[in-house]
Amino acid sequence: MKVLKFGGTSVGKPDRMHSIARLIAGKDRKLVVLSAVSGTTNALVAIAAALTEGDHGKGSQLIEALFAPYHEFVNLLYTTAEAKQKGEAIVNTHCDYIKSYVGKPFGEKETKELLAEGELISTALFQEYLLEINYQSVLLPALEFMKIDDDNEPVHEYIEQMLTAEIAKYPEAQYFITQGFIAKNTKGEIDNLKRGGSDYTASLVGAAIRAEEIQIWTDIDGMHNNDPRIVKKTFPIAALTFDEAAELAYFGAKILHPSTILPAKKYRIPVRLLNTMQPEAKGTVIADQTSDKDIKAIAAKDGITAIKIKSSRMLLAYGFLRRVFEIFEKYKTPIDMITTSEVAVSVTIDDAKNLTAILEELKSFCTVEVDANQSIVCIVGDFLEDKPGLVNKIFEALKNIPIRMISYGGSKNNVSLLIHTQHKNEALNALNEGVF
Ligand code: ADP
Ligand code: ASP
Ligand code: MG
Repeated sequence: MKVLKFGGTSVGKPDRMHSIARLIAGKDRKLVVLSAVSGTTNALVAIAAALTEGDHGKGSQLIEALFAPYHEFVNLLYTTAEAKQKGEAIVNTHCDYIKSYVGKPFGEKETKELLAEGELISTALFQEYLLEINYQSVLLPALEFMKIDDDNEPVHEYIEQMLTAEIAKYPEAQYFITQGFIAKNTKGEIDNLKRGGSDYTASLVGAAIRAEEIQIWTDIDGMHNNDPRIVKKTFPIAALTFDEAAELAYFGAKILHPSTILPAKKYRIPVRLLNTMQPEAKGTVIADQTSDKDIKAIAAKDGITAIKIKSSRMLLAYGFLRRVFEIFEKYKTPIDMITTSEVAVSVTIDDAKNLTAILEELKSFCTVEVDANQSIVCIVGDFLEDKPGLVNKIFEALKNIPIRMISYGGSKNNVSLLIHTQHKNEALNALNEGVF
């Protein structure tokens, strides 16, 4: 079975849903993962923020604005009066449900419940459409099989057991439709895999059923060599290894949720990135093969904090780094980059939630300096020792940009640099000119 995931723009208009139905047609069985209609999750975030602040008037207005276009959506999605009526009923049920939160106490738990609505609506509407056009389709509720633990990590065994049991109930079905993004947590509450999480769902369910392939259908023809939102002349990359793609996703290539590649890599399931608007384009294949270019792609991740930790003694005594790392471990804060000198170590984190507590503990045995608003620029390629010119090319391109940290040699396929976010666009454009 193949897994096909369609993102927000791919389900964002009735016509797009019609195209998806044509795209998934064919004999083999498929598991289809859908995101919310584009704009819906952002609107739900805004509604939840208003209700959290206690501004219920604004919350109500935002709910009306979110649902107004859904009636036209339903009208254009279906042909028969009966299907249109069912579609209207779906929209009204969800609208009434969201309205029921207005005027009541509202917090984090309720926010997550609201955020799940986008995928619940899009999948219900699409399933109804598939039934209207006589597809043998079953809607599998993701909340029955997607589960995360107390560290917000997916519970793989549970997902595998529950999903395979669900699928086994429908031997006749050809299409299984499910929600991306949403999951239950260990308290049994509704939760999610963080923004952009539908990609991760696709990979998790693909791994759970040992799919032959995972396809991520979006609004661009594959992973590009640089961020197309910032750099003009970018191009799609035909092939990437799991490790290369994982690095690009983790270091900011928005086309993939940061964790997407890991479950697929575990079972060596190829991940194909494809464009719904241009289905004939080759896209990107992520598998064991790579393309033969030296430098393949560049990505950047914002919101990084750099911490310089200086030993109070002159030299970094042994045991010093262990003490430092233990503090980050205690606060479950992953370190992305690290560089050391004789007397100091600099690390970066992207989750500054526990920064104050971390600094407090570090200060008991060293001095610290903190720089916020940093970006990691990650250059992915073949940086083997026998290719000395490559690194020169990078620094030549960046000669006018102040660089705060450099990480090279950690893996053979990555050079990472830390710069102030204000220089990011300039750096990405300069690298595009200089290294491709
Ligand atoms: P979806 O809603 O389908 O999940 P996303 O908006 O999350 O789509 O991801 C696709 C977008 O990612 C593209 O439209 C593009 O602007 C952005 N993007 C950022 N970096 C890259 C990259 N290196 N290659 C391709 N797209 C990228
Ligand atoms: N709808 C969710 C979001 O906008 C998940 C996704 O689209 O991947 O973040
Ligand atoms: Mg996305």
